[in-house]
Amino acid sequence: MKKFTFATDASFAYFQGISMKIFLDGKFCNERDAKISVFDHGLLYGDGVFEGIRAYNGRVFKLKEHIDRLFYSAKAILLEIPMSHAEVMKATIATIKANKLRDCYVRLLVTRGVGTLGLNPRSCKRPSVIIIAGKIQVYPAELYARGMEIVTVPTVRNLHSAVNPAIKSLNYLNNILAKIEANNAGVEEAVMLNAEGFVSECTADNLFIIKNGILQTPPNSAGALYGITRNTVMELAEPLEIKVTEPNLTRYDLFNADECFLTGTGAEIMPVIKIDGRLIGNGKPGAITQKLVQAYRALTQVSGEPI
Ligand code: PMP
Repeated sequence: MKKFTFATDASFAYFQGISMKIFLDGKFCNERDAKISVFDHGLLYGDGVFEGIRAYNGRVFKLKEHIDRLFYSAKAILLEIPMSHAEVMKATIATIKANKLRDCYVRLLVTRGVGTLGLNPRSCKRPSVIIIAGKIQVYPAELYARGMEIVTVPTVRNLHSAVNPAIKSLNYLNNILAKIEANNAGVEEAVMLNAEGFVSECTADNLFIIKNGILQTPPNSAGALYGITRNTVMELAEPLEIKVTEPNLTRYDLFNADECFLTGTGAEIMPVIKIDGRLIGNGKPGAITQKLVQAYRALTQVSGEPI
C-alpha cells in the first residue's frame, strides 16, 4: 500500500490564512477545502476508527497511548493505516503546530476510504487519515463544581461478539442512542448497562464509584472502552494510597456509592451527584474525587509530548 509523506514546513509556508488547518491524507489544507468523498465508507457505513486527544500547556497528553489505541482499533477492523505509528504521532503534533495551538482537542480519524456503494471494504483502495485540532468544551464549567446528574438508559452496550466496545469506531450509534435517551430524560449523560445488566460505561466516558474508600470501575469485559483517562486515574490513585478494583457493578452499587465520577479525554474528571433520582453520597462532589481531579489537572500541565 502506498504510504503518505507530508512536508510539514512546506505546508506551514503555504497556508498563511486564518482558517483552521486540517491534515488530510498527508497534506495540510484549509478548513473549507478539507473535504472527503460521499463514497468514503467512513460516511456510507461508519467504517473507520478515531481518537480524541488533548494538548495542555504545549504538550500532547498521553499521545503514544492514543496512537497505540488507534492502531489497536484499526487492527480489530482489519484497517491498514497508511502511515506508521511514528508518522501519525508526528502528524498530530504538526497539526497542532500548524494551528498555533498549545491547549486544544485533536480529533484523529482513519476512514476505510473511497469505495463503491456496496459495503464490501475490498472496494476501498486507500484509507484516509484526517487530523483536526480545535477547541472543545464538553460540559459547562459550573457542572464540574456542582457535579452532574446522570441516568441509566434502555439502550444496552454493544456485545463483544457484535461490535466490540473496545473498538473506537466511527460507528457510534450505540452511544448516540443512549445520549438521546439521556437528553430525553433531561440530563447530559447516560450510564449504559451491558446485556447482562452490569454497568459498562457512559456514552463518551468511563465511570468510577468510590465505596468505603475503594475506587471501583467496571472491567473492560463489561463493555467499557480501554479509556486512557480511566487508566491515568487508576495510576494516580496508587501514590494517593487509594485502592482500586474492577468488579462488575450493578445499578444498586451505583445508587449506594459514596462518590461517583466520569472520566474521558474531553470531559476529564466529572463528579456525579445523582443517578436515576438517587443522591450519591451527600449530593456534592466527594473528597476523593476532588483529590483525583487535582492530581489529574496537575499531571496534564507537566506531562506529554512537547509540541
Ligand atoms: N468511553 C467511550 C465510549 C468513549 O468514547 C470515550 C472517549 N471519549 C471514553 C470512554 C473515555 O476514553 P478516554 O479517557 O480514552 O478519552
